[in-house]
Amino acid sequence: MIGKKHPFTKEQLEKIAETYPTPFHIYDEKAIRANAKKFYNAFAWNSGFKDYYAIKAAPNPYLMKILHNEGFGIDCSSMAELKLAEKVGLRGEEIMFTSNDTPAEEYKKAIELGAIINLDDISHIPFLEKHAGIPELICFRYNPGPLKEGNMIIGHPEEAKYGATREQLFDAYKIMRDKGVKRFGIHTMVASNELDVNYFMETAEILFELVVELSEKLGIRFEFVNLGGGIGIPYRPEQTPVDLNLMSEGIYKLYTDLIEANGLAPIKLFFETGRVITGPYGYLVSRVLHIKQTYKKYAGLDACMVNLMRPALYGAYHHITVLGKGSMPHQTPYDVTGSLCENNDKFAINRLLPEMEAGDLVVIHDAGAHGHAMGFNYNGKLRSAELLMRENGEVMQIRRAETIADHFATLDFNGLDNF
Ligand SMILES: *Cc1c(COP(=O)(O)O)cnc(C)c1O
Repeated sequence: MIGKKHPFTKEQLEKIAETYPTPFHIYDEKAIRANAKKFYNAFAWNSGFKDYYAIKAAPNPYLMKILHNEGFGIDCSSMAELKLAEKVGLRGEEIMFTSNDTPAEEYKKAIELGAIINLDDISHIPFLEKHAGIPELICFRYNPGPLKEGNMIIGHPEEAKYGATREQLFDAYKIMRDKGVKRFGIHTMVASNELDVNYFMETAEILFELVVELSEKLGIRFEFVNLGGGIGIPYRPEQTPVDLNLMSEGIYKLYTDLIEANGLAPIKLFFETGRVITGPYGYLVSRVLHIKQTYKKYAGLDACMVNLMRPALYGAYHHITVLGKGSMPHQTPYDVTGSLCENNDKFAINRLLPEMEAGDLVVIHDAGAHGHAMGFNYNGKLRSAELLMRENGEVMQIRRAETIADHFATLDFNGLDNF
């Protein structure tokens, strides 16, 4: 049995649960900061290197402030995300606006904030011009189509709704050049939760080659290449994290061979990662409510798929630790369930775990990205609180749990009187 680490003791979590009832998400500030620094250190050779945290992964202003403090920008794709960026104090080119199927008001807001506009399609050029104007810096999202194999979550690029084709990009940058734009960037994102380091080097190669060709043909100068997000994390204990230094070395070589050799340096390298930055450092803590034995054995938690949807949504593995029972034999197959009236509301199926009983605390790992964020209110389930364990070990609440009043806030029950 291989385990997975977490930074808490059972006593500590029981104590926290006295103030903040389960379920809750808790993030480890120290580990997030250390990880953020590691990412920047890996790419220290590239001056102007920046990672734009994909805020959809964990849209909490406190987490964003920590990351901003570590040098991160923010990657937004909706009005709420733009406004969150504004509230955290990010402005201008610290904001990357990578949207698709974009409403006019969002372009207006993004331009007002001075964000980098990353256009998803050539047809958005007149739309942007009409509603918000053409900014001095422009980026396009590239969809390499059959040139690149996709992976499971995001699918094959030619089936993906995102980005423009190669041919369209030549026209798109030309149109922008002719409109007077002088500053350019390029972006792609073709993977999600990818653990193979070669994948990112191939992506860099495709983008660098395209930059060489676009620069030559159109006589424009690229300021940045945005390699997107999609760096995976080892959800399973036997998996290993992506070696960022190895990735950086590979990309450095491609940069030397393609960008420098063609006289196109310096070009800033950007990422817009979410998962790899906060994913492993957020935990969903929940308590066993019921143990049920029918045709199978079930451990029913006080959390459900509204707290963490990935297992139910795409069968994702999330490691589960039963607190205080790490040294007991893990030989009992459990379905670990939530309370939604949906049979797929399961955090694990046939998972070998120690014998559990009602009242046990469990930690569900790797819930720090695309966890709380994907919450919803089906069955009237309320989103849980988010806590932050500070570097000194203190715990602070960074989002309170929803209440029934929040849930009913959009309903007017008074209207029932004369209805
Ligand atoms: C979701 C998303 C990201 C972040 O993806 P991760 O897998 O969390 O790294 C980055 N860019 C765009 C455009 C996205 O949609």
